[in-house]
Amino acid sequence: MTPLRVTIIGAGISGLSCAHRLLELSQEKQAPLELTILDASPKVGGNLSTLEQDGFLMEEGPDCFITEKPAALNLIKRLDMEWQLMRTNHELKQSFILKGNNLYPIPEGFYLMAPSKLGPLMTTPLLSVWGKLRAALEPWVPIRRDPQDESVGAFVRRRLGKNVLEALAQPLLGGVYNADPDDLSLNAAMPRFKEMELKYGSLIKAMVARRLNSQAQVSGARYSLFMTLQKGMQSLTDALLYKIPVRSLQLESPVSSIRFEKEWTIRSNGRDQQADALVLALQPAKMIPLLSPLDKEWEKLLSGIPAHDSATLNLGFRREDIGHPLDGFGFVVPAREKKLVLGCTFSSQKFLGRAPLGMVLMRAFLGADSVRKIKEEGEQAVIDEVLAELQPILKLKGEPVTRHLAVYHQAMSYFRPGHLSQASRLEQKASEQKGLYLAGNGLKGVGIPDCIAVGEAVAEKIFRDFKAESANV
Ligand SMILES: Cc1cc2nc3c(=O)[nH]c(=O)nc-3n(C[C@H](O)[C@H](O)[C@H](O)COP(=O)(O)OP(=O)(O)OC[C@H]3O[C@@H](n4cnc5c(N)ncnc54)[C@H](O)[C@@H]3O)c2cc1C
Repeated sequence: MTPLRVTIIGAGISGLSCAHRLLELSQEKQAPLELTILDASPKVGGNLSTLEQDGFLMEEGPDCFITEKPAALNLIKRLDMEWQLMRTNHELKQSFILKGNNLYPIPEGFYLMAPSKLGPLMTTPLLSVWGKLRAALEPWVPIRRDPQDESVGAFVRRRLGKNVLEALAQPLLGGVYNADPDDLSLNAAMPRFKEMELKYGSLIKAMVARRLNSQAQVSGARYSLFMTLQKGMQSLTDALLYKIPVRSLQLESPVSSIRFEKEWTIRSNGRDQQADALVLALQPAKMIPLLSPLDKEWEKLLSGIPAHDSATLNLGFRREDIGHPLDGFGFVVPAREKKLVLGCTFSSQKFLGRAPLGMVLMRAFLGADSVRKIKEEGEQAVIDEVLAELQPILKLKGEPVTRHLAVYHQAMSYFRPGHLSQASRLEQKASEQKGLYLAGNGLKGVGIPDCIAVGEAVAEKIFRDFKAESANV
């Protein structure tokens, strides 16, 4: 039997989970597979990158994943890594929002953009009196039945008011999507909240029902909402790497062009290689140079799924050099505070064992303004400014004992209003081109479980398509 030749461009979590599922299917179906994975970088994992430095376990990219979407947990179980799963520190329950130089707890029961308890919302110093009254009127706000997408910002403003958007929802969503809520699609990024409005006529009523329902279910829950792996998120991509035959992997192999004439020809490092099926497991902006020479519509569609630059700054401190009690997982910063720091995770509080005894690991999340500043003024200027911002907030009394800055260029897609129709047009266009498949964080979701689900679905589609084709020969 002639092996099916599949080439994957991109060895991040999307490309590797696609490769792993292809290998599983090839074994299950006894179907020979010739797999090639090309990545521009000298190491696999893409955004997933963990390092040990001076006794601290630092995450450059993602530090955890959500368990509500099952694909990551399922993969971890299939890789026999369940024993490495780690919950968030159950002794800490809260995170904070910055106002001035003070940290205030996120009102209890407030989830991303809506409250499940009115009491804490009515007493939080994060909202004005008018903002609280406006939010309390939410159950009487009329339902918007127009199926046309709207921005998350417009939705929160309409239902709960401008104050809730600016003081609570914007910083919380910014921490997840690194995007302006007014440029974020409700239907693509937060469809559940739209469903709540349609089903209950009110986010508050829906969130209360959800809380009561989850209270009934939560006792003895095996997994926390967010989980990580003991040795960091990179252990997931490392485990996938061990499943892939060494001959399949080509690192430091940036793909410069692709073309199709009966089969795919992929050019990298001045060398051509052929494939029957080609998977692009990349952020859409990085697909543009490869796909736009095939047909100009690609560029128009792909450039509609943008990504901002971002950076993370890991900082190790002596515990006694931080005056704040660090009694939470970290804090987020509203855009109106005009800071470089968009959020800061108390990493060694959130996940135990990330810092040596007597030390604390923090991670500041920085956005496109910081990356621009790094280019113009250098890393040290940004590190100094971040430390100056953190000093009065965390009552810093000394310098960090270690630090590590990681910069990400256009790594995390965000979905603009109208994204769903754009993504389905992209999928349709890919399906019109024989043997072409799209994966990555630009289609269905940016989280690790979304990337895994898309990568695995692509692997299954490849086997279905080529089985159908061989049946037709
Ligand atoms: C700072 C940060 C924090 C995050 N935190 C979280 C989190 O806590 N939880 C969560 O669930 N998600 C988080 N995310 C999102 C998540 O990490 C990403 O959506 C996910 O890792 C994307 O994986 P990917 O494989 O699609 O792409 P990538 O990881 O970007 O991998 C793509 C790969 O393609 C390679 N490549 C690019 N162009 C070419 C080319 N022309 N030829 C060959 N190779 C090429 C790159 O070198 C890279 O290795 C975070 C993202 C960032 C940036």
